[in-house]
Amino acid sequence: DNLRKHYVSPRQWLRKPRPPIQAVDGVSFTVAKGETLALVGESGCGKTTTAKSVMRLIEPTSGSVQLDGEELLGLTKEQMRLRRRDLQIIFQDPYASLNPRLRAGDIVAEPLRNFGGPTGPMSPAERRERVQWLFARVGLRPESAAKYPHEFSGGQRQRLGIARALALNPKLIVCDEPVSALDVSVQAQVVNLLMDLQAEFGMAYLFVAHDLAVVRHISHRVAVMYLGHVVEVADRATLFAAPRHPYTEILLSAVPVPNPRTPAKRILLQGDPPSPANPPTGCRFHTRCPLAQEICKQQRPELTPRDTSGGTQWVACHFR
Ligand code: SF4
Repeated sequence: DNLRKHYVSPRQWLRKPRPPIQAVDGVSFTVAKGETLALVGESGCGKTTTAKSVMRLIEPTSGSVQLDGEELLGLTKEQMRLRRRDLQIIFQDPYASLNPRLRAGDIVAEPLRNFGGPTGPMSPAERRERVQWLFARVGLRPESAAKYPHEFSGGQRQRLGIARALALNPKLIVCDEPVSALDVSVQAQVVNLLMDLQAEFGMAYLFVAHDLAVVRHISHRVAVMYLGHVVEVADRATLFAAPRHPYTEILLSAVPVPNPRTPAKRILLQGDPPSPANPPTGCRFHTRCPLAQEICKQQRPELTPRDTSGGTQWVACHFR
């Protein structure tokens, strides 16, 4: 709720004041039990900073993050460490996120050693049994628990990351672009695996992505970010069929159409994104928006609900 992360430029250390970089500026959303909320937007829009702030892997500047009604931002380091039992993450890079000196089985067993199993402390034999079960659940052969990460392919490493995140039966898994470093065919397997696991165990995903085809496949709702703000939130069907915010429209129009005979309504986005160190006043999209008017430069549009048949669509625009 109203999450902010402003980075202070290192130059401020050198006593040459620079404005802080407003990577995330007043972002609010909810993720329901068993739901996948996708966070999308172009590079630098603040989606990964938002996801890591939710985990407190980055300390937010202000705002509120609640899990099951409990405020996380006021917790001490030790309290937060214990809360991570319910809050796990799958990282983008399956090559950098696994300790190369640990065997695969030990990597997956690490959360079990730190926290005990889903129902309490575990003996080494119970831990071994759960690791074998987790390997089977994510489609890895249990014998491969003795291997080191470099002996696995990229897709298999990401399966290891998923097994590690799943070990404690968390309530929410933050998926930080979990398939963007993988081949397309492997991407599909990993996305389908995540969906199967959610159907079986009922955890929620906060799914950070820039690939809209993947988002369309996996998400229940989508939040679109632009320059540190959430500009539209809607259920998947509504967002892809009837986007309201001009930025969402432009983003969706960039998705290639498979059939070359289908006329593509491509809208080109003009210019580069402004610097988050000096964002435009009012609506941050006004410097690139084809519909911008005078009011857009002066007044920030609030994210407000619109009537739709079926789902709920929230849009931050003066005219949509
Ligand atoms: Fe465009 Fe104005 Fe709407 Fe912003 S508020 S998206 S500038 S029309």
